[in-house]
Amino acid sequence: MLNYQDAPTPVHLIKDSKLCANGIQVYLKRDDLIHPFISGNKWRKLKGYIEDAKKTKCTKLVTFGGAFSNHLIATACAGAIHGFETKAFVRGEYVDLNNPVLTLCRIFGMELLPISKDDYLVNKNQSIPKNKEEYWINEGGFGILGTIGCAQIIDELEEEYDHIICAVGTGTTAAGLINGIEEHQKKTKIHGIAVLKKASYLNLEIKELTHSEPTNFQLHTDFHYGGYGKVNAEITDYIKYFAKAFGVLLDPIYTAKMMLATIELINSSEIKPGQKVLCLHTGGLTGILSEKMMKKF
Ligand SMILES: *Cc1c(COP(=O)(O)O)cnc(C)c1O
Repeated sequence: MLNYQDAPTPVHLIKDSKLCANGIQVYLKRDDLIHPFISGNKWRKLKGYIEDAKKTKCTKLVTFGGAFSNHLIATACAGAIHGFETKAFVRGEYVDLNNPVLTLCRIFGMELLPISKDDYLVNKNQSIPKNKEEYWINEGGFGILGTIGCAQIIDELEEEYDHIICAVGTGTTAAGLINGIEEHQKKTKIHGIAVLKKASYLNLEIKELTHSEPTNFQLHTDFHYGGYGKVNAEITDYIKYFAKAFGVLLDPIYTAKMMLATIELINSSEIKPGQKVLCLHTGGLTGILSEKMMKKF
């Protein structure tokens, strides 16, 4: 398996009154420190695909994403590091290719093809023929090969935790954590915090990616704060609070929702006094870079 920088990523105790009540300890695994552009779980997921692409002698990585996708910039940069051409279908015909994220993608050599929402869906479902030098990676790195690197997060843990909490987009990271816990026969409960509305379908998608029926796993579907990319003052205030208090930046799309959900799970006693919790900082700071989002801070 390809290596990433500075593995294992550090684990920091968060000394915060909202999180530490009743002897509860909350730790943060800093996957955001993996790489400035191949952020967090995007590298965990990509390395399985990059290894497979090398095996199959493909020369170009092709993938899909929205205009502010962490996955696109990660693929552009990781592709460049590993000697691949890269190409991405970007959702929306009139998307601004000069936005901060897509500009970085272009600088790393990625070819960008803006397509309509309908065509995007067709392509995403991989129904168009591809060249044999092309290696297609699902939107967000969804898939079995993406889970392997995420399961390694569990290999890196030196302590036992009662709960591990992560944000859920495609569910690939959560599935990897579930597989890792099973491989190590640990009793840790995995909590996935869905960041989109009506996300219970993700239970099925996650089941497809796990070795066996996930038993000690819960997908929480009530912490989306209005849906994917939706942000309110509670979220922006918390990001500002957290950044100032701990010098760690959360993102409004994924990790801020994950941390706020952790507080709720403590308040609702789903996390019990004295228990040890690991929150996964999956990285992903591009969500903050859109003009619309920046104005909210
Ligand atoms: C993409 C992303 C996720 C979602 O991960 P999945 O494996 O798709 O569930 C979570 N957090 C951050 C910061 C991300 O960029």
